[in-house]
Formats: sequence, C-alpha cells, structure tokens
Amino acid sequence: MKRIYLDHAATTPMRYEVLEAMLPYFREKFGNASTVYFYGQEAKGAINAARAKVASVINAASSEIVFTSGGTESDNFAISGVAWANQKRGNHIITSSIEHHAVLNICKFLEKRGFEVTYLPVDSQGLVSPEDVKRSIREETVLISIMHANNEVGTIEPIEEIGEIAKERGVYFHTDSVQTFGHIPIDVAKLNVDLLSASAHKLYGPKGVGALYIRNGVKIVPFLYGGDQENKRRASTENVAGIVGFGKAAQLALNEMEDEIKRLIPLRDRLIKEILEKINYTRLNGHPTKRLPGNVNISVEFVEGESMLLQLDIKGFCASSGSACTSSILEPSHVLTAMGIPAEVAHGSLRLTLGRDNTTEDIDYFLEVLPGIVERLRAMSPLSFQKGIP
Ligand code: PLP
Repeated sequence: MKRIYLDHAATTPMRYEVLEAMLPYFREKFGNASTVYFYGQEAKGAINAARAKVASVINAASSEIVFTSGGTESDNFAISGVAWANQKRGNHIITSSIEHHAVLNICKFLEKRGFEVTYLPVDSQGLVSPEDVKRSIREETVLISIMHANNEVGTIEPIEEIGEIAKERGVYFHTDSVQTFGHIPIDVAKLNVDLLSASAHKLYGPKGVGALYIRNGVKIVPFLYGGDQENKRRASTENVAGIVGFGKAAQLALNEMEDEIKRLIPLRDRLIKEILEKINYTRLNGHPTKRLPGNVNISVEFVEGESMLLQLDIKGFCASSGSACTSSILEPSHVLTAMGIPAEVAHGSLRLTLGRDNTTEDIDYFLEVLPGIVERLRAMSPLSFQKGIP
C-alpha cells in the first residue's frame, strides 16, 4: 500500500543528499575534532563549514551558533542558561501557554528553584499579544521566550514586535524556531531575538542534532561541563556526522525555501477549504494567514481524533491529532484548550502537516477518503447521538 506522510511537524524523512554528505564522517573521516592531526582537523573543518551554513539561514555569525542534541536541548539550554547566568539581575521569565513542552517543562522546573514564570494567554487563533508581553515585564524579568510558530496549529507569532519590546526594555528574548527554521525566512537582526532554537530533523536532516543561536554578548552559563567544545558552552565530543547533515539540510532548505513556500501554501489552503466545505461541523484551528505554509489543523466535531487517525492509517495516511497520551490518559492538547476550544472539540482535531514529497494527487486522495471516515465514525459516535447530529 502506498503510504502518504502528512506529519512533517513531527519529523521529516532525511534527504538522500543529506545522508550522502554524512556517510564519510562515520568511517573514513572519523576524527575527533579536538585533535591536532589530519583527521581531527578534517572533522573540525567540516563542523565549521556546517556552522556557517546553519548561521546563514538566520543571518547570524558562525560564532553565534552552538550545536546541541536537538530542539529540546536548545530550548532547555537557552532558558536555564540565561536564567542561571542572570539570577542576580532578577528571577522572572515570561513565556506563553502554547509553547512546546521543551519550553514549558524547563520553566516549571525553574519555578521549583525560585524563579517566577508568567504564562501568557493566546487569542482564539493562537496569537500572543505583544501588549500582554509589554505589560508583564517587571524589574526582575530576565527572559522572554515566545515560539516563532506553534507546532500544532501553525500560528506564526508576532516575534518582530515582541523583539522590539524586549530590546527596548533590556530583557533577553528567546524564540523556539524548531518549526520555522529552514521553512520560512528568519533574520535574527530584524526579529531582535537574542537566542533561537532549531532542530535538524524538522528540515529533512538527521535526528538528535540541533542548534542554539546565542547573540554575541548574551550572558549564559554552559549547558554541559567538560571539555572546551562549542566554545566552552557545550562540552562533549561533537556529533560530526549529525552536524554535517544539519549543515547540508540547512543549505538545501535555504536554497529551496522560496519555491517550497509557493508550492505548499496552495496545497494547504485547498485542503482547508475543501475539508470545511465537504464536512459539516468542522472548523479551522489557528490563524488563517499567519500560518506555517504546510500546516492544516481542523476540528471535526462529534468524532474522536484518535479514531480518525486509526481509520486514516488503514488507508495509508500518517497524520496527528489534538490529543496527547500522557500517562495513558488521553488529554486534550494544551494548545487547543489555551485557544478556548472545548475539550471535546479538541479531542476531535486533526493535524496534517505537508512536506516536500506531498503532491496534488495526495491531497485529492485525502479529500476523497476523509468524508467517508468521518461519516462512519459519526454514525457510531455517542457524541452525535446525544446531540442528534448530523
Ligand atoms: N519545539 C518545538 C516547537 C517542536 O515542535 C519540537 C519537536 O516536536 C521541539 C521543540 C523538540 O525538538 P527535538 O525533537 O529536536 O528535541
């Protein structure tokens, strides 16, 4: 059976060009970049070349990029690193209620260690208000962390406006850019961000490698203590093959970004329009235009998201829902509930995230299959029985 992958926000298939660039670094070019002889210098050169490629995606200097083990580490590093380094200045952090758990859970940890965290609300389309950010800044605020785009509903946040406020007030500003890096244009100078997280596996690179952009001059404590790697900010022998793969993926993403955005937006908008037209009691989650090019998130009322996923899987589709399995209980997504969507509607949400290999034919087939699945599930659903719908 042909499988159609519509879950690119979860991860992406590695590109062959990326794999090819990485392969020599597992065997022939195996050196430790901290050594002085040929193999070591070869590895060091490859890491620095990759660093320049990653930096160029966001208009940063190479010296401002630290390689990490992924998006989670970059988020943890940015938030805890700035919090601990600036403790004498203050103990207050501002973030939003729709951040990824890589941000929310380090904030929760810091709360237990004496920090105060403000979790800003969002509006019904998932937008953080810059005015709310401004109002929440206190004398003790050391960091603002607001994601560039949300991984579930795709809403793109007003980062430039928030960056301006942060700069004006002298507060460090971090953005989790895991869903936007290599997908939409980013210029750290224009956005006024001091720290930015990225992860290679979201842009057709390898898993387990990421980057944290740290603007020159930001006060931050190291994430790992040991050797002098990564400018003494993140000890441990570098994942050379992974870093080379990230560099290659970043370079390809930057070269192809404009064309890919132009290709994805019409596919996304057609999916949204036709699902809403073909199936009653559906609604779009997230902002209609300030939205990631490949993101579709729709609530289908009177249906359980997990059941939809299983039925779609039988037809060969890989998608994601608005529920998360936490300790074996199905919880509605914290993002959808923060946007004011009732729990039972959030449970019926479907996230489709498009990528490089998706074609018009994939969309045609999906639109052919989904209405029948929803109809069958609604016919069985106690929710629709209770309300007499449809
Ligand atoms: N932040 C966001 C917005 C994400 O979507 C993800 C991954 O899903 C992460 C952080 C974590 O990235 P990683 O899987 O590389 O640790």
